[in-house]
Amino acid sequence: MYSRTQNENGSYNTRCLDCFMTVASCVETERELDLLEAHHICPEKALAELLAQERAAEARAASN
Ligand SMILES: [Zn+2]
Repeated sequence: MYSRTQNENGSYNTRCLDCFMTVASCVETERELDLLEAHHICPEKALAELLAQERAAEARAASN
């Protein structure tokens, strides 16, 4: 999820709603926003995935 805002000069900013990091600012086109958002590596999502993997490993260990 991203929060897009528009500047007075018509350019855009976009912020990640998971880690609240500004992904890009002063972007000219929405097409460029799409690309920049797609390339954002979110530390919050990476952490959540890591924790999910650990929980899955623990569940496997507990069932053995
Ligand atoms: Zn993020």
